[in-house]
Amino acid sequence: MDPETLAVGAEALPYFRTDEFSEKMVAMRDRIQRVCRASASSRLAVITGSGTAAMEAAVASMFGGDDRVLVINGGGFGERFSELCRCHSIPYNELILAHDEELDAAHFEGVDGRQYTGLLVNVHETSTGQLYDMSLISGFCREYGLTLVVDAISSLLADDYRMDEWGVDATIFSSHKALAVSPGLSFVLVNEETWHSRIAGKRRAGVFYLDLRDHIMNMERGQTPFTPSVGVVLQVEEKLARVEARGVSYFLHKTRCLAEGFREDIKKRTNLVVPGFRISNALTPLFFPDGGAEKCFSRLRDDHGLIVTPSGGENKDKMIRVGHMGNLTQDDHDTLVSALAV
Ligand SMILES: *Cc1c(COP(=O)(O)O)cnc(C)c1O
Repeated sequence: MDPETLAVGAEALPYFRTDEFSEKMVAMRDRIQRVCRASASSRLAVITGSGTAAMEAAVASMFGGDDRVLVINGGGFGERFSELCRCHSIPYNELILAHDEELDAAHFEGVDGRQYTGLLVNVHETSTGQLYDMSLISGFCREYGLTLVVDAISSLLADDYRMDEWGVDATIFSSHKALAVSPGLSFVLVNEETWHSRIAGKRRAGVFYLDLRDHIMNMERGQTPFTPSVGVVLQVEEKLARVEARGVSYFLHKTRCLAEGFREDIKKRTNLVVPGFRISNALTPLFFPDGGAEKCFSRLRDDHGLIVTPSGGENKDKMIRVGHMGNLTQDDHDTLVSALAV
């Protein structure tokens, strides 16, 4: 986190059912619309919960038993969309990718789009690092008129994102990934048409706290139905104000340069392997051809005070992930490469 974000976090919290706080919320919404490249008519839900809360709010408030959605399941977060569909009894099918398999046009050729009403995808599947080609996905959704829901939680502000241009109907993201703010808030930004066709007039069974309709209606006056994570709202507002002052492209460029430089150094100075598919700027997955990822994680932590992201499941001893988001510098990356090179 940036020092400015930490400073906001240290302040006492204001009472929030006030015009002043509503103004902050509205300013945050306007900035979010611009960062997502969405029109000013799009509707925002501000949810107090981790990213999965926004995923669940979108799935449960936008779809029902008379829908059928296609889930792009390329890892742990794609699988989570499928779990949510099962939990809320929403009919679904999966397009399943193997761990090192890149999503391409051929995957869609075998799919009959007419049977679906929606598509759920994590644009950056954080568990593998793959960044999907949105022109491919949005082309498929346009062809068959599918409602497109995109989880951009670990991609927004790290990779280019164009909600309206890609025809995305709902964008999901959270405070604690590339925004680099405390965990506690997640967001669903919905375009005007989808608000009217899938949310406004409907009361879905089995959703209460996560009902998008309630959140969006309250947000029209800059409020939330329940107590928000007040401090995190103020941190997000502060961060987005700085993002706008410097420009989104500055932050994208910084993250991309760190990621690309790191990948080059890793190839030059270590025998670790970076996958060949399209990778998000947010992180680099590193493969250990002979195993040893778990030991490496502990060594980096204990000997160097460096924390990287370990893996679970079949990749437990084969892969670590290195983040490039937030307040990380070239020096941090140099230190890490040197520690990995020994
Ligand atoms: C982190 C993440 C989430 C949300 O996880 P939480 O632990 O609920 O915040 C969802 N989708 C993706 C792609 C993520 O990277």
